[in-house]
Amino acid sequence: MSGPVSETGGARTFPVVLAAPSGAGKTTLARALVRETDRFCFSVSATTRAPRQGERDGVDYTFVDRRTFEAMASRGELAEWASVHDDLYGTPRSELEKAAERGEHVVLDIDVQGARLIRAGVPEAVLIFVLPPSAEALLGRLTGRGTEDAAHVARRLRSALEELAATPEFDYVVVNDDLNRCLDDIRVIVRAESLHAARTEVLASRLDRLRAGIVRILQEDYANLPA
Ligand code: 5GP
Repeated sequence: MSGPVSETGGARTFPVVLAAPSGAGKTTLARALVRETDRFCFSVSATTRAPRQGERDGVDYTFVDRRTFEAMASRGELAEWASVHDDLYGTPRSELEKAAERGEHVVLDIDVQGARLIRAGVPEAVLIFVLPPSAEALLGRLTGRGTEDAAHVARRLRSALEELAATPEFDYVVVNDDLNRCLDDIRVIVRAESLHAARTEVLASRLDRLRAGIVRILQEDYANLPA
């Protein structure tokens, strides 16, 4: 996957994976990141889940039936997919490819299983785990939605416990206690990762140009001086 180079450090853009227990606020974070600059875009997942009120097809998710989803998966069109709370969710490869072509960081709002698959299949991705500030805040967010009954809330709390165990597998952990501070943390992570020496694909040619320039200056302007 190659595309334009970001202005920072000359590294290619890379996917940014946000995973968290549901209710940690990662969708809000992902949306806010994408809204504020054109350096980020949102990966629109395919899902078999029914749309919630206000959700738009092709914007929040691409809503498909199970047969369509399975066909997409078997044609290899999904970079990862997982079954979450009895529904299927997956990241179309085309979302990653479009972003790379445009020189944008694509933000993936996915679950822990999906994050693991991205780690394995898309090694340049940066994995960020979003923690809720407290158990009470998590509960508040889960019940505050008003769309879930008690059994659903209990189920999500139980899966939160399982998902928290995956924290050490991530590259970074941010605490979503304050939206703006948390967004700042994510921006800092992305900027630092853009400057990482290990992202050498473009760095190598930059170094070649720099070396050639120094050698030329030495030959043209300093040739008569002792080494
Ligand atoms: P919700 O139904 O509340 O929108 O999402 C349920 C869970 O599925 C969330 O943790 C969400 O991040 C995750 N999810 C959304 N899209 C994808 C995807 O493409 N792949 C995976 N693995 N998980 C996803």
